Amino acid sequence: MSVEVAGNPLQRIALLGATGSIGDSTLDVIRLHPDRYQAWVMTAHSQVQKAFVQCQQFQPTYFVMVNPQAAQELSQLLKSIHSKTEVLSGDSALVDIVAASEVDIVVLGIVGAAGLAPGLAAVRARKRVLLANKEALVMAGALFMAEVRRHQTELLPLDSEHNAIFQCLPLNCQTVWQTPNLIEQGLSRIILTASGGPFLKTSAAELSHITPEQACAHPNWQMGKKISVDSATLMNKGLEFIEACYLFDIPPSAVEVLIHPQSIVHSMVEWRDGSVLAQLSQPDMKIPIAYGLAWPARIKTQVPQLDWRQITQLEFCLPDTQRFPCLQLAIDAMKTGGSAPVVLNAANEVAVAHFLAGKIAFIEIAKVIIKTLEKMPSVPLSDLAAVWDIDQESRALTSEFICS
Ligand code: NDP
Ligand code: MG
Repeated sequence: MSVEVAGNPLQRIALLGATGSIGDSTLDVIRLHPDRYQAWVMTAHSQVQKAFVQCQQFQPTYFVMVNPQAAQELSQLLKSIHSKTEVLSGDSALVDIVAASEVDIVVLGIVGAAGLAPGLAAVRARKRVLLANKEALVMAGALFMAEVRRHQTELLPLDSEHNAIFQCLPLNCQTVWQTPNLIEQGLSRIILTASGGPFLKTSAAELSHITPEQACAHPNWQMGKKISVDSATLMNKGLEFIEACYLFDIPPSAVEVLIHPQSIVHSMVEWRDGSVLAQLSQPDMKIPIAYGLAWPARIKTQVPQLDWRQITQLEFCLPDTQRFPCLQLAIDAMKTGGSAPVVLNAANEVAVAHFLAGKIAFIEIAKVIIKTLEKMPSVPLSDLAAVWDIDQESRALTSEFICS
């Protein structure tokens, strides 16, 4: 329920993944609009010190720290300064809190499969859901979108590409919860742009010696480690391909990926008459987040304007799926359907975690995903329980491949 403040309804936000990169950018936008938005509940997994500083700055009513030991530490720190923020703990607290009647907007900035359950809870509670966590749609796109439509939940994409596409749609087509038929409306193609990541020009031979630090040094975006590695393998674009198909309810044949190293054009929509609409801006997540928060209005972000005198080149080329096989694996998984995207996502999460821990080489990521996909042929997904079973089985198998 919103509270009226100085003519604006104050929107209470549940910021999931507050201590991450999406969390930071969301808090930057909230800081600019204290009369419109309040971080009512914030969540993290285990980063106590950062959560403590955030609680002092934003004074949320609740902070959910999923890890119980970290929750205890945070609680003690907050008590020592007589903070009024109450600390909750555990996965169930995460799912319960998004449905609280006080919450208006849920920002889903958790990384990985852990975002699915709270995401679905927010959808079922009919909150405005700002979706950064692409893994939820990759794992359970059909089931997730069916719930969005059943509950008529406002779902707004934060992923910069999907937010760009969303911005390029006419208002009556932006309401993805009402199942607009974009092809009937004249859409012929969605062009997803990709920066190409830090290894766009790296030879296949050099790719075998990539370190986690190199993989996480993205040329255009500051992001969490998992998505940074996904960007380096181009799996991120593959996950976004799947995300686009489910979110906009379009077939894989209507989505194309183009490399655009400058990250100025965030994606494009081509229409039946040959017109192409694009959204351009500085690469800064505050823009999609502000759009999601205020939609259909626009609010300030303090992101610098594009300086057209500096932009002398906007390049586009096709991705190299030989050097970056993960992109094609994801596109194929979407075309196969059923459980294939779940297997792909689970195997990727396990492989990336092992790469970041220094246990496998960069080029092994794609190899163990291929092995897992080969061992787990696609089956239809009847319900969410089936999704979790396949997810767990795939993770166990990938870990086994890595350790053998
Ligand atoms: P980060 O790694 O920076 O942050 C992840 C957040 O999730 C942290 O707050 C972390 O808590 C929390 N978290 C991690 N694991 C769990 C868990 N098991 N249960 C509950 N919370 C957990 O990631 P990003 O912010 O970069 O990305 C978040 C999501 O947004 C990803 O799905 C990513 O693909 C997507 N995205 C991100 C973009 C970006 O610019 N960063 C752009 C587009 C999409 P703690 O810090 O305590 O570990
Ligand atoms: Mg993106």
